[in-house]
Amino acid sequence: MEANKPRDFIRQAIDADLAAGANQGRVVTRFPPEPNGYLHIGHAKSVCLNFTVAADFDGHCFLRFDDTNPDKEDSRFVDAIKEDVHWLGFDWGDRLTHASDYFESLFESAVTLIEAGKAYVDSLTAEEIRTHRGTLTEPGKNSPYRNRSVEENLDLFRRMAAGEFEDGAHVLRAKIDMASPNMNLRDPALYRIRKSRHQRTQDRWCIYPMYDFAHTLSDALEGTTHSLCTLEFEDHRPLYEWFLDQLPMANRPRQIEFSRLNLAFTVTSKRLLKRLIDEGHVQGWDDPRMPTLAALRRRGYTPESIVDFCARVGVTKKDTTIELGALENCLREDLNERAERRVAVLDPIKVVIENFPDGETEWLPAANHPNRPELGERDLPFSRELWIERDDFMEDPPRKFFRLKPGGEVRLRYAYIIKCEEVVKDAAGKISYLRCSMDVDTRSGSGPAAMRKVKGTIHWLSAAHAKPAEVHLYDRLFKVPNPAAGDDLAADLNPDSLVVRSNAFVEAALADLTPGVPVQFERLGYFVTDPDVTAGLRFNRAVTLRDTWAKLERQLLQSET
Ligand code: ATP
Ligand code: MG
Repeated sequence: MEANKPRDFIRQAIDADLAAGANQGRVVTRFPPEPNGYLHIGHAKSVCLNFTVAADFDGHCFLRFDDTNPDKEDSRFVDAIKEDVHWLGFDWGDRLTHASDYFESLFESAVTLIEAGKAYVDSLTAEEIRTHRGTLTEPGKNSPYRNRSVEENLDLFRRMAAGEFEDGAHVLRAKIDMASPNMNLRDPALYRIRKSRHQRTQDRWCIYPMYDFAHTLSDALEGTTHSLCTLEFEDHRPLYEWFLDQLPMANRPRQIEFSRLNLAFTVTSKRLLKRLIDEGHVQGWDDPRMPTLAALRRRGYTPESIVDFCARVGVTKKDTTIELGALENCLREDLNERAERRVAVLDPIKVVIENFPDGETEWLPAANHPNRPELGERDLPFSRELWIERDDFMEDPPRKFFRLKPGGEVRLRYAYIIKCEEVVKDAAGKISYLRCSMDVDTRSGSGPAAMRKVKGTIHWLSAAHAKPAEVHLYDRLFKVPNPAAGDDLAADLNPDSLVVRSNAFVEAALADLTPGVPVQFERLGYFVTDPDVTAGLRFNRAVTLRDTWAKLERQLLQSET
């Protein structure tokens, strides 16, 4: 942590615990994802928090899969989550666990609660249980099964576990208080029957523990000292404490809540992310427009930029929505430093230099980074036929257009000043090429005399040397700051979230770019090669060079609040 940055409230709370002699000085945290989807940017905040808090206090952090719901979980999500946590730069060492590792202990704890008269088997239907629960303003009603004897409860619970009953026939509930103002204490369910095969325990169990029960006991059993979770669990804390009171163990964890990360223009709920995939709005969990870590990686985000973003967001108890531009800026800052510069032309139009000899090539040095000379330079081939960007030329330009126009001059970056002599068109009136001349005395880098000034500088590629490529330009997936507020995902989608440039050209050297290494295409943004090589050479744009949304985003967010 930066020395002059005030410690966040969680680290302060841990300081106080340690000062009071809690947990023999141990600090143990855990990141507990449910393997029912991929990790998203919101999870990154929790991953960073749990692992960096542990590191700051010389403690450790478990990666614990909360696999208590076999119907929705899948080992492919387990693998993806592990990859993402590693990618962010965190290592759980040998502390990889699963709630299912504790199923035997959880069962024994449930039996202990029954024996103590603190849990009972309820045989109401799910619907009846709901109506008995009451509301925020009305107390609940006791179930007619609430006073079953310990013997009957033990017998029924064991038979539930033995598979004698159908799904939903009975549930095991804690016996707390149906009139509690906290709904979570109105005899919450501990176990339900679910005759589903579990990805790890297979058919060993047909009853599965509920989240609160499993989570609290896993924390306690595993040695977690500080159970950091998001604010929606604040109301569950009394239940967390209740379990710890009823089932005392050597280790007593403390739950501390912090606010979720909300990002404008983004959904961070696995349910909605799954809907985006199922409804065909994106191609999968790692579609580069998704806010998942797998998608951000594929798009060209660096783990450093995400960790930096999480650190800047910090941890508080205040519910806020962060501008998406803030995440993008972290990436820009990182890539501006790290990414080498290259040239690509996304929407090409041909230029023919009439006074450059046909068949010849001149090699012109270009720096790989404007302020990191140690990254060296490479030579760009210059020849008679070049590609330039279609929108760097205008036949009928407004007054302040300083790029190429008929009769006008522009500098080709790293090369010469050229002048557009003629716009050559085909029979249909479409531009075939621009016939240009070059001023041979204006070669870049050949002394002050050569640096005659013209207002515009554009990028270009030698047509004979450039490699064809496909380029994917991404924009925000949603056009509104708070998507799916009304649950209509489709209506909020940005129709321009993906623009494909299938006739682009790139510098020849880019064909061998290491996958996952981002580069800057000059004037166009930061790009990375797509890992799917079956589609040929494809680049994804991670982020533009400037934040084109900043103003609009701020206005939209303000008008919301
Ligand atoms: P989702 O709503 O997307 O399903 P979840 O909280 O149910 O998210 P889990 O797999 O249970 O998903 O999350 C694992 C951990 O990540 C939890 O401790 C949760 O609090 C934390 N987490 C999830 N979303 C966010 C977020 N937006 N900001 C911070 N932490 C988050
Ligand atoms: Mg959850």
